[in-house]
Amino acid sequence: MTTLSTTLAKRLEDPRLFRQYAYVDGKWTHGNDGREEAVHDPATNEALGHIPLLEDAQITAAVDAAEVAFVHWRALRADERCERLLAWYDLIQANREDLATIMTLEQGKPLPDARGEVEYGASFVRWFAEEGKRTYGETIPSHIPNASLGTIKEPVGIAAMITPWNFPLAMITRKAAAALAAGCPVIVKPANETPFSALALAELAERAGIPAGVFNVVLGEPAAVSKILCAEPRIRALSFTGSTRVGRLLIEQSAHTVKRLSLELGGNAPFIVGPDMDPKEAAYAAVAAKFQTAGQDCLAANRILVHESIHDEFVEQFSERMAALTVGNGLQGEIDLGPLIHRQAVEKAAAIVDDAVSKGATMIGGDQSQAPGDNYFMPVLLTGVTPQMKVWREENFAPVAGVTAYRTDDEAIEMANDTEYGLAAYIYTHDIRRIWKLLRALEYGMVSVNSVKMTGPPVPFGGVKQSGLGREGGATGIDEYLETKYYCLGAL
Ligand code: NAD
Repeated sequence: MTTLSTTLAKRLEDPRLFRQYAYVDGKWTHGNDGREEAVHDPATNEALGHIPLLEDAQITAAVDAAEVAFVHWRALRADERCERLLAWYDLIQANREDLATIMTLEQGKPLPDARGEVEYGASFVRWFAEEGKRTYGETIPSHIPNASLGTIKEPVGIAAMITPWNFPLAMITRKAAAALAAGCPVIVKPANETPFSALALAELAERAGIPAGVFNVVLGEPAAVSKILCAEPRIRALSFTGSTRVGRLLIEQSAHTVKRLSLELGGNAPFIVGPDMDPKEAAYAAVAAKFQTAGQDCLAANRILVHESIHDEFVEQFSERMAALTVGNGLQGEIDLGPLIHRQAVEKAAAIVDDAVSKGATMIGGDQSQAPGDNYFMPVLLTGVTPQMKVWREENFAPVAGVTAYRTDDEAIEMANDTEYGLAAYIYTHDIRRIWKLLRALEYGMVSVNSVKMTGPPVPFGGVKQSGLGREGGATGIDEYLETKYYCLGAL
Protein backbone atom coordinates (compact mmCIF):
# COMPACT_ATOMS: atom_id res chain seq x y z
CA MET A 1 0.00 0.00 0.00
CA THR A 2 1.52 3.35 -0.96
CA THR A 3 0.53 6.45 0.96
CA LEU A 4 1.95 9.93 0.86
CA SER A 5 4.06 10.31 3.93
CA THR A 6 2.78 13.03 6.22
CA THR A 7 6.22 14.65 6.35
CA LEU A 8 6.31 15.14 2.62
CA ALA A 9 2.63 16.01 2.25
CA LYS A 10 2.88 18.78 4.78
CA ARG A 11 5.96 20.28 3.26
CA LEU A 12 5.29 20.40 -0.48
CA GLU A 13 3.50 23.29 -2.15
CA ASP A 14 2.61 20.91 -4.98
CA PRO A 15 2.12 17.37 -3.62
CA ARG A 16 1.74 16.02 -7.17
CA LEU A 17 5.50 16.26 -7.47
CA PHE A 18 5.78 13.39 -5.04
CA ARG A 19 5.23 10.22 -7.10
CA GLN A 20 5.52 6.66 -5.91
CA TYR A 21 5.37 5.00 -9.33
CA ALA A 22 7.74 4.37 -12.16
CA TYR A 23 7.21 6.55 -15.26
CA VAL A 24 7.15 4.62 -18.52
CA ASP A 25 5.75 5.74 -21.87
CA GLY A 26 4.15 8.79 -20.27
CA LYS A 27 2.28 6.68 -17.71
CA TRP A 28 2.72 6.31 -13.95
CA THR A 29 3.26 2.62 -13.46
CA HIS A 30 2.95 0.08 -10.62
CA GLY A 31 5.03 -3.06 -10.56
CA ASN A 32 3.06 -5.87 -12.27
CA ASP A 33 3.57 -8.21 -9.35
CA GLY A 34 3.05 -5.60 -6.62
CA ARG A 35 6.60 -5.74 -5.23
CA GLU A 36 7.66 -2.51 -3.51
CA GLU A 37 10.61 -1.08 -1.60
CA ALA A 38 10.49 1.56 1.12
CA VAL A 39 12.50 4.78 0.82
CA HIS A 40 13.79 6.30 4.04
CA ASP A 41 14.73 9.74 5.29
CA PRO A 42 18.36 9.17 6.38
CA ALA A 43 18.01 11.89 9.04
CA THR A 44 15.24 10.10 10.93
CA ASN A 45 14.98 6.62 9.36
CA GLU A 46 11.31 7.45 8.79
CA ALA A 47 9.80 5.77 5.72
CA LEU A 48 9.04 8.54 3.23
CA GLY A 49 7.18 6.35 0.79
CA HIS A 50 7.52 3.33 -1.46
CA ILE A 51 8.63 2.61 -5.00
CA PRO A 52 7.53 -0.25 -7.21
CA LEU A 53 10.04 -2.86 -8.28
CA LEU A 54 9.25 -3.43 -11.93
CA GLU A 55 9.26 -6.85 -13.55
CA ASP A 56 11.76 -7.57 -16.33
CA ALA A 57 9.05 -7.25 -18.98
CA GLN A 58 8.21 -3.77 -17.73
CA ILE A 59 11.82 -2.64 -18.23
CA THR A 60 11.67 -4.01 -21.76
CA ALA A 61 8.38 -2.12 -22.23
CA ALA A 62 10.26 1.11 -21.43
CA VAL A 63 12.70 0.27 -24.23
CA ASP A 64 9.76 -0.42 -26.58
CA ALA A 65 8.28 2.98 -25.69
CA ALA A 66 11.61 4.77 -26.18
CA GLU A 67 12.05 3.05 -29.55
CA VAL A 68 8.71 4.38 -30.77
CA ALA A 69 9.34 7.83 -29.27
CA PHE A 70 12.79 8.04 -30.89
CA VAL A 71 11.24 8.26 -34.36
CA HIS A 72 9.38 11.46 -33.51
CA TRP A 73 11.87 13.00 -31.09
CA ARG A 74 14.82 12.79 -33.47
CA ALA A 75 12.67 14.19 -36.28
CA LEU A 76 11.93 17.40 -34.36
CA ARG A 77 14.02 20.38 -35.31
CA ALA A 78 16.73 21.26 -32.79
CA ASP A 79 14.93 24.49 -31.90
CA GLU A 80 11.72 22.54 -31.20
CA ARG A 81 13.57 20.24 -28.79
CA CYS A 82 15.18 23.34 -27.31
CA GLU A 83 11.77 24.88 -26.57
CA ARG A 84 10.63 21.80 -24.67
CA LEU A 85 13.86 21.64 -22.71
CA LEU A 86 13.59 25.32 -21.82
CA ALA A 87 10.03 24.71 -20.63
CA TRP A 88 11.40 21.90 -18.45
CA TYR A 89 14.10 24.24 -17.13
CA ASP A 90 11.48 26.88 -16.25
CA LEU A 91 9.38 24.32 -14.39
CA ILE A 92 12.38 23.00 -12.45
CA GLN A 93 13.21 26.55 -11.39
CA ALA A 94 9.59 27.37 -10.56
CA ASN A 95 9.39 24.29 -8.33
CA ARG A 96 12.83 24.69 -6.82
CA GLU A 97 11.63 24.78 -3.24
CA ASP A 98 9.62 21.55 -3.52
CA LEU A 99 12.43 19.79 -5.39
CA ALA A 100 14.90 20.86 -2.70
CA THR A 101 12.60 19.61 0.05
CA ILE A 102 12.19 16.23 -1.64
CA MET A 103 15.96 16.01 -2.05
CA THR A 104 16.75 16.89 1.55
CA LEU A 105 14.20 14.38 2.79
CA GLU A 106 15.48 11.47 0.73
CA GLN A 107 19.20 12.34 0.56
CA GLY A 108 19.79 14.21 3.82
CA LYS A 109 21.81 17.17 2.53
CA PRO A 110 21.07 20.58 4.11
CA LEU A 111 18.22 22.44 2.45
CA PRO A 112 20.41 25.32 1.15
CA ASP A 113 22.69 22.74 -0.51
CA ALA A 114 19.65 21.01 -2.01
CA ARG A 115 18.44 24.35 -3.41
CA GLY A 116 21.93 24.83 -4.84
CA GLU A 117 21.78 21.40 -6.48
CA VAL A 118 18.41 22.16 -8.08
CA GLU A 119 19.87 25.37 -9.49
CA TYR A 120 22.99 23.52 -10.67
CA GLY A 121 20.96 20.67 -12.16
CA ALA A 122 18.62 23.07 -13.94
CA SER A 123 21.57 24.96 -15.43
CA PHE A 124 22.51 21.88 -17.47
CA VAL A 125 19.03 21.74 -18.96
CA ARG A 126 19.21 25.34 -20.12
CA TRP A 127 22.75 24.97 -21.44
CA PHE A 128 22.15 21.76 -23.40
CA ALA A 129 18.81 23.08 -24.72
CA GLU A 130 20.85 25.66 -26.63
CA GLU A 131 23.82 23.41 -27.35
CA GLY A 132 21.51 21.04 -29.24
CA LYS A 133 21.30 23.72 -31.94
CA ARG A 134 25.05 23.54 -32.50
CA THR A 135 25.66 19.88 -33.27
CA TYR A 136 27.40 20.79 -36.46
CA GLY A 137 28.91 18.39 -38.92
CA GLU A 138 31.85 19.41 -41.08
CA THR A 139 32.96 19.81 -44.67
CA ILE A 140 36.17 17.95 -45.48
CA PRO A 141 38.53 19.01 -48.31
CA SER A 142 38.28 16.14 -50.73
CA HIS A 143 41.12 13.78 -51.65
CA ILE A 144 38.80 11.97 -54.12
CA PRO A 145 38.37 13.54 -57.58
CA ASN A 146 35.00 15.28 -58.08
CA ALA A 147 33.68 14.26 -54.68
CA SER A 148 32.26 16.25 -51.79
CA LEU A 149 33.07 14.95 -48.34
CA GLY A 150 31.72 15.74 -44.93
CA THR A 151 30.11 14.58 -41.73
CA ILE A 152 26.65 14.77 -40.20
CA LYS A 153 25.94 14.37 -36.49
CA GLU A 154 23.06 12.07 -35.64
CA PRO A 155 21.54 10.95 -32.32
CA VAL A 156 23.08 7.69 -31.16
CA GLY A 157 19.71 6.17 -30.20
CA ILE A 158 18.09 5.23 -26.91
CA ALA A 159 20.27 6.22 -23.94
CA ALA A 160 20.07 4.55 -20.52
CA MET A 161 21.30 6.37 -17.44
CA ILE A 162 22.09 4.86 -14.08
CA THR A 163 22.54 7.51 -11.42
CA PRO A 164 23.71 7.71 -7.78
CA TRP A 165 22.08 8.99 -4.60
CA ASN A 166 24.57 11.72 -3.64
CA PHE A 167 23.35 14.20 -6.27
CA PRO A 168 19.89 12.81 -7.03
CA LEU A 169 18.81 15.56 -9.42
CA ALA A 170 21.91 17.05 -11.04
CA MET A 171 23.39 13.67 -12.03
CA ILE A 172 20.20 13.05 -14.02
CA THR A 173 19.93 16.43 -15.72
CA ARG A 174 23.65 16.52 -16.61
CA LYS A 175 23.14 13.34 -18.63
CA ALA A 176 19.50 13.56 -19.74
CA ALA A 177 19.57 17.17 -20.96
CA ALA A 178 22.52 16.36 -23.24
CA ALA A 179 20.88 13.20 -24.58
CA LEU A 180 17.48 14.83 -25.11
CA ALA A 181 19.03 17.84 -26.84
CA ALA A 182 20.91 15.46 -29.15
CA GLY A 183 17.63 13.76 -30.09
CA CYS A 184 17.92 10.62 -27.94
CA PRO A 185 15.10 9.31 -25.72
CA VAL A 186 16.26 8.34 -22.24
CA ILE A 187 15.57 5.65 -19.68
CA VAL A 188 16.71 6.71 -16.21
CA LYS A 189 17.35 4.25 -13.41
CA PRO A 190 17.90 6.36 -10.30
CA ALA A 191 19.41 5.04 -7.08
CA ASN A 192 16.75 3.33 -4.98
CA GLU A 193 17.77 5.49 -2.02
CA THR A 194 16.73 8.70 -3.87
CA PRO A 195 14.08 7.94 -6.49
CA PHE A 196 11.67 10.77 -5.66
CA SER A 197 13.84 13.54 -7.15
CA ALA A 198 13.94 11.58 -10.43
CA LEU A 199 10.18 11.05 -10.40
CA ALA A 200 9.53 14.75 -9.71
CA LEU A 201 11.73 15.53 -12.73
CA ALA A 202 9.57 13.13 -14.79
CA GLU A 203 6.39 14.90 -13.64
CA LEU A 204 7.88 18.24 -14.72
CA ALA A 205 9.12 16.80 -18.03
CA GLU A 206 5.57 15.70 -18.77
CA ARG A 207 4.23 19.16 -17.91
CA ALA A 208 6.91 20.68 -20.15
CA GLY A 209 5.52 18.80 -23.15
CA ILE A 210 8.29 16.23 -23.46
CA PRO A 211 6.38 13.47 -25.26
CA ALA A 212 5.53 10.04 -23.85
CA GLY A 213 8.40 7.57 -24.13
CA VAL A 214 11.08 10.26 -24.43
CA PHE A 215 11.86 10.53 -20.69
CA ASN A 216 11.28 7.33 -18.72
CA VAL A 217 12.12 6.44 -15.13
CA VAL A 218 12.38 2.73 -14.32
CA LEU A 219 12.73 1.31 -10.83
CA GLY A 220 13.64 -2.09 -9.56
CA GLU A 221 16.33 -4.22 -8.05
CA PRO A 222 19.49 -2.39 -9.33
CA ALA A 223 21.54 -5.36 -10.52
CA ALA A 224 18.54 -6.92 -12.31
CA VAL A 225 17.47 -3.70 -14.03
CA SER A 226 21.02 -2.87 -15.11
CA LYS A 227 21.49 -6.34 -16.56
CA ILE A 228 18.48 -5.88 -18.79
CA LEU A 229 19.51 -2.38 -19.84
CA CYS A 230 23.05 -3.58 -20.67
CA ALA A 231 21.89 -6.63 -22.62
CA GLU A 232 19.28 -4.71 -24.61
CA PRO A 233 20.67 -4.11 -28.14
CA ARG A 234 18.25 -1.25 -28.83
CA ILE A 235 19.90 0.80 -26.07
CA ARG A 236 22.88 2.35 -27.83
CA ALA A 237 24.39 4.47 -25.05
CA LEU A 238 24.77 3.85 -21.36
CA SER A 239 25.78 6.63 -19.02
CA PHE A 240 26.58 5.74 -15.43
CA THR A 241 27.62 7.73 -12.39
CA GLY A 242 28.55 5.70 -9.37
CA SER A 243 31.23 3.54 -7.91
CA THR A 244 34.16 2.12 -9.85
CA ARG A 245 33.06 -1.34 -8.68
CA VAL A 246 29.68 -1.10 -10.41
CA GLY A 247 31.25 0.72 -13.38
CA ARG A 248 33.44 -2.33 -14.04
CA LEU A 249 30.39 -4.60 -13.92
CA LEU A 250 28.56 -2.45 -16.44
CA ILE A 251 31.52 -2.53 -18.84
CA GLU A 252 31.42 -6.34 -18.71
CA GLN A 253 27.67 -6.53 -19.10
CA SER A 254 27.60 -4.08 -22.04
CA ALA A 255 30.32 -5.87 -23.97
CA HIS A 256 27.89 -8.11 -25.86
CA THR A 257 25.88 -5.20 -27.24
CA VAL A 258 28.91 -2.92 -27.79
CA LYS A 259 27.36 0.21 -26.31
CA ARG A 260 28.63 3.74 -26.17
CA LEU A 261 29.71 4.03 -22.52
CA SER A 262 30.09 7.12 -20.42
CA LEU A 263 31.28 6.35 -16.90
CA GLU A 264 31.68 8.87 -14.11
CA LEU A 265 33.18 6.76 -11.35
CA GLY A 266 34.85 7.24 -8.02
CA GLY A 267 37.42 9.86 -7.06
CA ASN A 268 40.04 10.32 -4.35
CA ALA A 269 41.04 13.93 -4.82
CA PRO A 270 44.38 15.27 -3.62
CA PHE A 271 44.48 18.84 -2.32
CA ILE A 272 48.02 20.22 -2.60
CA VAL A 273 48.98 23.28 -0.60
CA GLY A 274 52.19 25.09 -1.57
CA PRO A 275 54.62 26.68 0.91
CA ASP A 276 53.69 30.20 -0.19
CA MET A 277 50.03 29.83 0.86
CA ASP A 278 48.38 31.49 3.82
CA PRO A 279 47.62 28.36 5.94
CA LYS A 280 44.28 29.75 7.09
CA GLU A 281 43.07 30.55 3.58
CA ALA A 282 44.13 27.11 2.36
CA ALA A 283 42.64 25.33 5.38
CA TYR A 284 39.25 27.02 4.96
CA ALA A 285 39.24 26.10 1.27
CA ALA A 286 40.15 22.49 2.11
CA VAL A 287 37.31 22.26 4.64
CA ALA A 288 34.91 23.53 1.98
CA ALA A 289 36.30 21.06 -0.58
CA LYS A 290 36.03 18.10 1.81
CA PHE A 291 32.79 18.39 3.75
CA GLN A 292 30.19 19.29 1.14
CA THR A 293 27.37 16.72 1.13
CA ALA A 294 28.97 15.36 4.32
CA GLY A 295 31.94 14.18 2.26
CA GLN A 296 29.73 12.07 -0.02
CA ASP A 297 31.03 13.81 -3.10
CA CYS A 298 33.28 12.36 -5.79
CA LEU A 299 35.16 15.69 -5.81
CA ALA A 300 35.78 15.63 -2.04
CA ALA A 301 39.35 16.57 -1.06
CA ASN A 302 40.30 13.33 0.65
CA ARG A 303 44.09 13.48 0.72
CA ILE A 304 45.40 16.86 1.77
CA LEU A 305 49.11 17.32 1.02
CA VAL A 306 50.62 20.35 2.75
CA HIS A 307 54.16 21.68 2.46
CA GLU A 308 56.03 20.84 5.66
CA SER A 309 56.81 24.52 6.36
CA ILE A 310 53.12 25.36 6.98
CA HIS A 311 51.73 21.92 7.85
CA ASP A 312 51.25 22.44 11.59
CA GLU A 313 49.52 25.78 11.25
CA PHE A 314 47.35 24.40 8.46
CA VAL A 315 46.26 21.52 10.70
CA GLU A 316 45.42 23.94 13.49
CA GLN A 317 43.31 26.15 11.23
CA PHE A 318 41.62 23.18 9.57
CA SER A 319 40.76 21.66 12.95
CA GLU A 320 39.26 24.90 14.25
CA ARG A 321 37.18 25.38 11.14
CA MET A 322 36.07 21.74 11.17
CA ALA A 323 35.05 21.97 14.84
CA ALA A 324 32.73 24.85 13.97
CA LEU A 325 30.76 22.75 11.44
CA THR A 326 27.24 21.94 12.57
CA VAL A 327 25.87 18.44 12.08
CA GLY A 328 22.14 17.71 12.06
CA ASN A 329 18.90 17.24 10.16
CA GLY A 330 19.21 19.13 6.87
CA LEU A 331 15.71 20.55 7.24
CA GLN A 332 16.79 22.55 10.29
CA GLY A 333 18.44 25.94 9.80
CA GLU A 334 22.21 26.51 9.91
CA ILE A 335 23.28 22.92 9.32
CA ASP A 336 26.56 22.24 7.53
CA LEU A 337 26.50 18.44 7.43
CA GLY A 338 23.46 16.22 7.22
CA PRO A 339 23.42 12.46 7.85
CA LEU A 340 25.22 9.89 5.72
CA ILE A 341 22.99 7.97 3.37
CA HIS A 342 22.59 4.96 5.68
CA ARG A 343 24.06 3.17 8.66
CA GLN A 344 26.49 1.07 6.56
CA ALA A 345 28.15 4.29 5.39
CA VAL A 346 28.71 5.29 9.03
CA GLU A 347 30.21 1.89 9.77
CA LYS A 348 32.49 2.12 6.74
CA ALA A 349 33.69 5.59 7.84
CA ALA A 350 34.42 4.31 11.37
CA ALA A 351 36.39 1.36 9.96
CA ILE A 352 38.50 3.70 7.78
CA VAL A 353 39.30 5.89 10.80
CA ASP A 354 40.14 2.85 12.97
CA ASP A 355 42.40 1.46 10.26
CA ALA A 356 44.33 4.76 10.02
CA VAL A 357 44.69 5.14 13.79
CA SER A 358 45.87 1.53 14.13
CA LYS A 359 48.57 2.29 11.53
CA GLY A 360 49.80 5.43 13.31
CA ALA A 361 47.58 8.34 12.22
CA THR A 362 46.38 10.87 14.79
CA MET A 363 42.66 11.60 14.94
CA ILE A 364 41.35 15.13 15.46
CA GLY A 365 37.61 15.67 16.04
CA GLY A 366 35.27 12.78 15.37
CA ASP A 367 33.65 12.49 18.80
CA GLN A 368 30.90 10.15 17.70
CA SER A 369 29.09 10.43 21.05
CA GLN A 370 28.00 13.87 19.77
CA ALA A 371 26.36 12.42 16.65
CA PRO A 372 22.69 13.47 16.58
CA GLY A 373 21.46 10.09 15.30
CA ASP A 374 22.34 6.64 13.97
CA ASN A 375 23.26 7.76 10.46
CA TYR A 376 25.45 10.70 11.40
CA PHE A 377 29.23 10.82 11.47
CA MET A 378 31.06 13.67 13.18
CA PRO A 379 33.84 15.10 10.97
CA VAL A 380 37.36 13.78 11.42
CA LEU A 381 40.81 14.94 10.40
CA LEU A 382 43.53 12.28 10.38
CA THR A 383 47.10 13.59 10.46
CA GLY A 384 50.18 11.66 9.42
CA VAL A 385 48.34 9.54 6.86
CA THR A 386 50.40 7.17 4.71
CA PRO A 387 49.78 5.20 1.51
CA GLN A 388 49.34 2.01 3.57
CA MET A 389 46.10 3.31 5.09
CA LYS A 390 42.62 2.80 3.68
CA VAL A 391 41.97 6.53 4.02
CA TRP A 392 44.64 7.03 1.36
CA ARG A 393 43.76 4.11 -0.91
CA GLU A 394 39.94 4.09 -0.79
CA GLU A 395 37.36 6.71 -1.54
CA ASN A 396 35.88 7.19 1.94
CA PHE A 397 32.68 9.02 0.90
CA ALA A 398 32.31 10.36 4.44
CA PRO A 399 33.42 13.41 6.45
CA VAL A 400 36.90 11.96 6.94
CA ALA A 401 39.93 13.93 5.70
CA GLY A 402 43.55 12.81 5.76
CA VAL A 403 46.52 15.17 5.81
CA THR A 404 50.24 14.65 5.44
CA ALA A 405 53.32 16.84 4.91
CA TYR A 406 55.53 16.85 1.81
CA ARG A 407 58.92 18.42 1.17
CA THR A 408 59.27 18.94 -2.60
CA ASP A 409 56.89 19.47 -5.49
CA ASP A 410 58.03 16.17 -6.99
CA GLU A 411 57.13 14.39 -3.78
CA ALA A 412 53.68 16.04 -3.77
CA ILE A 413 53.11 14.93 -7.38
CA GLU A 414 54.12 11.36 -6.60
CA MET A 415 51.81 11.23 -3.58
CA ALA A 416 48.91 12.83 -5.47
CA ASN A 417 49.19 10.35 -8.35
CA ASP A 418 49.55 7.34 -6.06
CA THR A 419 45.97 6.12 -6.56
CA GLU A 420 43.92 4.17 -9.08
CA TYR A 421 41.59 7.18 -9.30
CA GLY A 422 42.02 10.24 -11.49
CA LEU A 423 38.90 12.40 -11.25
CA ALA A 424 39.76 15.77 -9.71
CA ALA A 425 42.69 17.45 -7.97
CA TYR A 426 43.09 20.78 -6.22
CA ILE A 427 46.19 22.99 -6.10
CA TYR A 428 46.56 25.91 -3.73
CA THR A 429 49.56 28.15 -4.45
CA HIS A 430 50.20 31.51 -6.08
CA ASP A 431 53.52 30.48 -7.60
CA ILE A 432 52.90 30.33 -11.34
CA ARG A 433 55.80 27.96 -12.02
CA ARG A 434 54.57 25.56 -9.37
CA ILE A 435 51.00 25.80 -10.70
CA TRP A 436 52.07 24.93 -14.21
CA LYS A 437 54.36 22.10 -13.11
CA LEU A 438 51.67 20.47 -10.96
CA LEU A 439 48.89 21.07 -13.46
CA ARG A 440 50.82 19.22 -16.15
CA ALA A 441 52.03 16.39 -13.92
CA LEU A 442 48.79 15.49 -12.14
CA GLU A 443 47.06 12.45 -13.65
CA TYR A 444 43.53 13.82 -13.26
CA GLY A 445 40.67 14.74 -15.59
CA MET A 446 40.04 18.00 -13.75
CA VAL A 447 42.44 20.26 -11.89
CA SER A 448 41.26 23.29 -9.95
CA VAL A 449 43.77 25.95 -8.92
CA ASN A 450 42.90 28.22 -5.99
CA SER A 451 39.19 27.48 -6.36
CA VAL A 452 36.92 24.97 -4.66
CA LYS A 453 34.22 25.45 -7.26
CA MET A 454 35.12 23.96 -10.62
CA THR A 455 32.15 22.31 -12.33
CA GLY A 456 29.23 23.63 -14.37
CA PRO A 457 27.46 23.30 -17.72
CA PRO A 458 30.12 24.67 -20.09
CA VAL A 459 33.06 22.57 -18.85
CA PRO A 460 33.99 18.91 -19.38
CA PHE A 461 33.49 16.81 -16.23
CA GLY A 462 35.15 13.42 -16.00
CA GLY A 463 38.11 11.39 -14.94
CA VAL A 464 41.09 9.39 -16.15
CA LYS A 465 42.43 6.02 -14.93
CA GLN A 466 39.74 4.13 -13.02
CA SER A 467 37.62 7.25 -12.48
CA GLY A 468 35.88 6.65 -15.76
CA LEU A 469 35.39 7.18 -19.45
CA GLY A 470 33.99 10.14 -21.34
CA ARG A 471 33.04 13.63 -20.27
CA GLU A 472 29.78 15.25 -19.22
CA GLY A 473 29.02 18.93 -19.69
CA GLY A 474 30.41 21.25 -22.30
CA ALA A 475 30.51 20.57 -26.02
CA THR A 476 32.03 17.14 -25.32
CA GLY A 477 29.01 16.27 -23.14
CA ILE A 478 26.58 16.23 -26.05
CA ASP A 479 29.04 14.29 -28.22
CA GLU A 480 28.47 11.29 -25.92
CA TYR A 481 25.00 11.04 -27.51
CA LEU A 482 25.93 11.74 -31.13
CA GLU A 483 27.25 9.55 -33.90
CA THR A 484 29.40 10.98 -36.67
CA LYS A 485 28.18 9.90 -40.09
CA TYR A 486 30.74 10.43 -42.82
CA TYR A 487 29.51 10.97 -46.35
CA CYS A 488 31.24 10.92 -49.68
CA LEU A 489 29.25 12.41 -52.55
CA GLY A 490 30.89 11.22 -55.76
CA ALA A 491 30.38 12.97 -59.07
CA LEU A 492 26.69 13.91 -59.02
P1 NAD B 1 26.87 2.73 -6.68
O1 NAD B 1 27.82 2.37 -7.72
O2 NAD B 1 26.64 1.79 -5.57
O3 NAD B 1 25.44 3.05 -7.29
C1 NAD B 1 25.25 3.88 -8.42
C2 NAD B 1 24.06 3.36 -9.18
O4 NAD B 1 24.30 2.01 -9.56
C3 NAD B 1 22.75 3.36 -8.40
O5 NAD B 1 21.70 3.66 -9.29
C4 NAD B 1 22.64 1.92 -7.93
O6 NAD B 1 21.30 1.55 -7.71
C5 NAD B 1 23.24 1.18 -9.10
N1 NAD B 1 23.78 -0.12 -8.73
C6 NAD B 1 24.19 -0.54 -7.52
N2 NAD B 1 24.63 -1.82 -7.57
C7 NAD B 1 24.50 -2.21 -8.86
C8 NAD B 1 24.80 -3.42 -9.55
N3 NAD B 1 25.31 -4.47 -8.94
N4 NAD B 1 24.57 -3.45 -10.88
C9 NAD B 1 24.08 -2.36 -11.51
N5 NAD B 1 23.75 -1.21 -10.90
C10 NAD B 1 23.97 -1.12 -9.59
O7 NAD B 1 27.35 4.16 -6.17
P2 NAD B 1 26.66 5.04 -5.08
O8 NAD B 1 27.01 4.45 -3.77
O9 NAD B 1 25.24 5.29 -5.40
O10 NAD B 1 27.41 6.43 -5.32
C11 NAD B 1 28.63 6.68 -4.80
C12 NAD B 1 29.70 6.51 -5.86
O11 NAD B 1 29.39 7.32 -6.98
C13 NAD B 1 31.04 6.98 -5.39
O12 NAD B 1 32.02 6.07 -5.76
C14 NAD B 1 31.23 8.32 -6.12
O13 NAD B 1 32.53 8.72 -6.33
C15 NAD B 1 30.53 8.06 -7.38
N6 NAD B 1 30.15 9.33 -7.97
C16 NAD B 1 30.84 9.74 -9.05
C17 NAD B 1 30.52 10.96 -9.63
C18 NAD B 1 31.25 11.39 -10.84
O14 NAD B 1 30.73 12.24 -11.55
N7 NAD B 1 32.41 10.85 -11.14
C19 NAD B 1 29.48 11.74 -9.13
C20 NAD B 1 28.80 11.28 -8.01
C21 NAD B 1 29.14 10.05 -7.44
